Amino acid sequence: MKAKEIRSLFPALAQEVYGKPLVYLDNAATSERLQAVLDRWMEMSVSMNANLHRAVHATAVAATEAYESTRDRVARSLNAASREEIVFTSGATASINLVAASFGEAFVGEGDEVLVSEAEHHSNLVPWQLLCGRKKAVLKSLRIENSGAILPEALEKALSPRTKIVAISHISNVLGLINPVKDLVRICHEKGIPVLVDGAQGMVHAPVDVRDLDCDFYVFSGHKLYAAPGTGVLYGKKKWLDAMPPYMGGGEMIETVRFSGTTFAPLPGKFEAGTQNIASVPTLVPALDFLEAAHADPELEGEQRALTEYVQDRLTSDPRIRLYGVPRRTSDKIPLFSFTVEGAHHEDLALILDKMGIAVRSGQMCAEPLMDRMGVTGMVRVSFAPYNTLEEAEYFIKSLNKAIDMLS
Ligand code: PMP
Repeated sequence: MKAKEIRSLFPALAQEVYGKPLVYLDNAATSERLQAVLDRWMEMSVSMNANLHRAVHATAVAATEAYESTRDRVARSLNAASREEIVFTSGATASINLVAASFGEAFVGEGDEVLVSEAEHHSNLVPWQLLCGRKKAVLKSLRIENSGAILPEALEKALSPRTKIVAISHISNVLGLINPVKDLVRICHEKGIPVLVDGAQGMVHAPVDVRDLDCDFYVFSGHKLYAAPGTGVLYGKKKWLDAMPPYMGGGEMIETVRFSGTTFAPLPGKFEAGTQNIASVPTLVPALDFLEAAHADPELEGEQRALTEYVQDRLTSDPRIRLYGVPRRTSDKIPLFSFTVEGAHHEDLALILDKMGIAVRSGQMCAEPLMDRMGVTGMVRVSFAPYNTLEEAEYFIKSLNKAIDMLS
């Protein structure tokens, strides 16, 4: 497969903005939707619109089967030990909040520590901060290198006998660097500390094997990998999910309910309170089918690598541009680039690029502490998907040069 060929699978890419073909480079915020995802969503909404796990009628049974078989598909994709370890949520943020509240309720107490890196998305920071506030625990930050790298030695130093959990991104949504998660997990486990990996970006760019990483929790959102928005996954090791109390109550997360007390459904139902996202969750299946085919395709992989090297080379060779997240080896970087330009405001650059048909992100990227760490108020970010071509990357570089000239 070539990037050019797969574009027809994503109807949104055929659009024009300001009379120019849309060059969509904001994929780290949300990707475009696959036609197969839209078809599945429509099929679920029309032919299988019934509540799950409850009624005995044919439509309800079909909807439940579509939803539960998606769980098997996700478990297989992550190489989880069992389907019970897969909990559906509304997204990565919801998954992290679930763990922070429920794991935190059971295992974090006054004076304990939670460790997150300086490069975390607010979604992997604020839930822990809220927990620490409730529990009088301490939220600690793990220092990153100026290059954006997380060093295993820094982690070793930051852990203490009071550390109860470490939460770290697989790939930062600002730096685009692949963190050495497997090593980081090993270091934490040597001290008996569990690790949550925020895979909101990590799941998109390469196959994820949770048993190989040995992480305790792994979370991601469907909307960043071509599935419907409002879908998300929490993978948790059974031993933890079993030991954690329910997060929300209601619906089918129960076994029996009496005024004298309630007992809870076995995993994963215990964590899926209320009516679930019936129509959208099954869209994860065509999305994961596409994602896995893309990951296994050497031609596409080669194109993405060439595109990454091209953009990185152009951005780093221009003295007016400062790139954040510079890898030691090019294979440690995904095609996601955040940068600032001397004398040009990030939002002005984004507005000019928009007029040229190029959708980029500008601002703090939900990572204010990282902006502070890098000494900036915001950045421009371009993030590429397998449907972005080298021609689009070349057009972006040309347009960026024009925009910089206009502003300086
Ligand atoms: N973590 C990272 C690294 C992200 O990039 C994002 C989305 N920008 C999130 C968490 C939150 O994901 P969502 O908004 O889909 O819950």
